[in-house]
Amino acid sequence: MKYALADDTAARKRLFLGLITATSLLVISGLALLWIVPSIGLANIHAALPYVAGMVTVALMVVVLWAWLSLVLHIMLKRPVLLSRKLRGVTIKFMLPLMSLLGMLLGISKEKVRNSFIKVNNELVMQDWQRHPPHRVLLLLPHCLQASDCPHRLTYDVNNCERCGRCPICSLLELAEASGVRLAIATGGTIARRIVVQTRPTLIIAVACERDLASGIQDAYPIPVYGVLNERPCGPCLDTRVDLEAVRAVLAQVIQPAGPADAGDVAGQAPAHTPALTPAHTPVQAPPQSRSA
Ligand code: SF4
Repeated sequence: MKYALADDTAARKRLFLGLITATSLLVISGLALLWIVPSIGLANIHAALPYVAGMVTVALMVVVLWAWLSLVLHIMLKRPVLLSRKLRGVTIKFMLPLMSLLGMLLGISKEKVRNSFIKVNNELVMQDWQRHPPHRVLLLLPHCLQASDCPHRLTYDVNNCERCGRCPICSLLELAEASGVRLAIATGGTIARRIVVQTRPTLIIAVACERDLASGIQDAYPIPVYGVLNERPCGPCLDTRVDLEAVRAVLAQVIQPAGPADAGDVAGQAPAHTPALTPAHTPVQAPPQSRSA
């Protein structure tokens, strides 16, 4: 037993030493390249290298410029322009971390940067004007919406909720049933990812704090995520609340009217069954048109 423990400690030490050595070597190599390449000149390495480096730099500049311009035009004109829908990925994956970094340098809190990102993301999602069959819309909720003293376990089956009305889960379940969307509760990013893989939604309406929404929007890309911020009267992650009218308004705007439109299901397949979700519902009445979220 004593020897096994010593072996385990030694293995962990070896792993740590291996990783720290590799990381340090990579950083040192990168720094050395940053110093050596401009010193000896690209042309001295190969005659074509300055042109290759120039072309790569210009291509990257064009992509960034294009992503920025299309995003600004998309927001101003309230419709996709210059392939802005395709370039949403560049903004989501690369610009947000850089924006957070810049915000930090400028003394702007991460929360503020994330908040503005979520707002813009929501506008872009709404401006797509694409409606979705109810069963392809996933209403993804954080575990902290459930009353902290509730004894029922909802993560694996939301129908365990007794609907006592002490927390917003009850009203959200009713909302999901009335609109025919699927509802799931996630305790963290890993479970949220699993739910998304299982349900294959074409749109996610996620309720969470700024941090979880920003990372969720990034993780779920290219699936569009509309973020609804939760309210935290008891502090973070405890007995949080959500503006039900905001959720209702988003659902009204994104759900496809019932009827023949159901045939427009992107994958043309029945929804995957997962016990953590509300059962697949029969699409109900068409929601009211175009209410602002
Ligand atoms: S509404 Fe459901 S989840 Fe909320 S406290 Fe009551 S039983 Fe628990």
